[in-house]
Amino acid sequence: MPELPEVQALVDFLRERTDGLVVTGVELGSISVLKTFTPPPQALVGAPADGVSRHGKFLDLDCGGTHLIFHLARAGWLRWSDAMPATVLRPGKSPIALRVRFDDASGFDLTEAGTRKRLAAYVVNDPAAVPGIASLGPDPMAESFTLEQFAAIAASHRMQVKGMLRDQSILAGVGNAYSDEVLHVAKLSPFAIAATLDDAGVARLYTALRGTLSAAVAAASGKPAKELKDAKRAGMRVHGRTGETCPECGDVVREVSFADSSLQYCATCQTGGKPLADRRTSKFLK
Ligand SMILES: [Zn+2]
Repeated sequence: MPELPEVQALVDFLRERTDGLVVTGVELGSISVLKTFTPPPQALVGAPADGVSRHGKFLDLDCGGTHLIFHLARAGWLRWSDAMPATVLRPGKSPIALRVRFDDASGFDLTEAGTRKRLAAYVVNDPAAVPGIASLGPDPMAESFTLEQFAAIAASHRMQVKGMLRDQSILAGVGNAYSDEVLHVAKLSPFAIAATLDDAGVARLYTALRGTLSAAVAAASGKPAKELKDAKRAGMRVHGRTGETCPECGDVVREVSFADSSLQYCATCQTGGKPLADRRTSKFLK
């Protein structure tokens, strides 16, 4: 799933490609991808693409005041083409959920692999009309996001830090992958309770959060859309690297699995050398 750094890179990519272009077509390959009814997608046609921005993990293409907003979710992606096929997209079994065309024949497809369709698109006059945007917490990359603000957030959440980092209503833009990375850098257990962290732990987490995200934004920046997924994977220290060697201490990267996701961590770096219980290997342990 693309998280803040990849979405930011897609924003920069789209801004550069669409600057000065006019939308000439919006086609739906999946009716269910569009979560709004008014304005209709056709309201975008004829409008200039005059702004691209990000709200957490949502991308916002501003077309003369009408916004096409989308969230790629777990298996969605954006595929840019300098020369879009002329065939009109029709609702059906295509992995292409939505197609946007511009007046120089370029455009992009939003695609979604797999059967669980979660990719979501919205056409709105005000981005705050998208429920997932209205409820977003602060953006950890905003200049105004201070250690004091983060400390107040941590102090008021009696929940596991892993869950706190991923909760979009608490912090906008971080998901499963970067929360693993941030916790590894901060040398904190994913199951540590946010509200009980001491000042040093909160400061380490804040620095790790901002540092990890800005390094990932810098690494992703300027890369074309099609290279972002591989770049994200290549930059990971522990996430998705179960069984590999921790780059920090040489211990093995371990995993805790859940119903439909898993987290990775290093016991030596993060949990005092004690492996966390995993339901697959120790079902009856808490
Ligand atoms: Zn380690």
